[in-house]
Amino acid sequence: MNQQSMDNKSALNNKVALITGAGSGIGRAIALRLAELSADLCLLDSVPEKLDKVKRNGVQGSGIVDLMPIDLEDINQIRTIRDYIEQTFPSLDILVHSAGIIFQDSIESATLDDFNRQIAVNMVAPYTLTQDLLPLLRASKGQIVFINSSVVGNPGKGTIQYAATKHALKGIADGLRSELNQDGIRVLSIYPGRTATPMQERIFRAEGREYHPEYLLQPEDIAEIVADALMLPRTAEVTDIQIRPSIKH
Ligand code: NAD
Repeated sequence: MNQQSMDNKSALNNKVALITGAGSGIGRAIALRLAELSADLCLLDSVPEKLDKVKRNGVQGSGIVDLMPIDLEDINQIRTIRDYIEQTFPSLDILVHSAGIIFQDSIESATLDDFNRQIAVNMVAPYTLTQDLLPLLRASKGQIVFINSSVVGNPGKGTIQYAATKHALKGIADGLRSELNQDGIRVLSIYPGRTATPMQERIFRAEGREYHPEYLLQPEDIAEIVADALMLPRTAEVTDIQIRPSIKH
């Protein structure tokens, strides 16, 4: 841990963060970083074993760590989250939307079923979850983080459906910022390039390319920049961060 990290060790003490997709990749790295900063965590993922593993092997800090196995494709399950948070935590200060899925295919063969699943997880879930949790976020003058993608503005072959959902997510984040800034709520979108996570490993395999995670962005790089933005003084708001691997290969 460097000197700055040590100075910040309790920067998020008594702050409660809900992180979706916290069982893997970017969501997991953000959970670990916010735990180091002493936040209380509610970690959400559809795969309970992944959450158990994050709690068992990784999360170190002084805060509470609570696990929420929820499938964000199921609107009824999403609708239970607000009650649960209200009953379990005194507040909700940070909401990080990291859960996401991608199915790559050409326009000829991509199925509507795959499109609907990506719409549900990448777009409808962050929208409805934010909507449900707004009263709590308003009360705490909270912060919302959307893990978007560099596919916005740069959709490659086979990513039409995914890119459409991520463009919609940008619209949701930008619209929310206009509506919620007046209540003291900050909204941040992160647009990462290829990041070394299980999702990206699957993409490399599907593309028939050898996977070299060391050439990619690391999930911890994203976690670091998210944490820095969350800790900025309230006189400032970071709205959008484009981040990509520095090694081009
Ligand atoms: P990942 O697959 O490693 O992690 C995603 C997590 O979301 C998994 O633990 C998964 O179980 C969970 N999840 C998926 N569907 C869910 C559902 N229905 N309900 C609840 N949880 C669900 O992927 P990652 O690379 O960490 O991706 C995180 C976010 O970053 C995604 O929104 C992705 O689109 C975005 N992103 C990733 C990259 C990259 O290169 N890895 C680049 C740009 C953007």
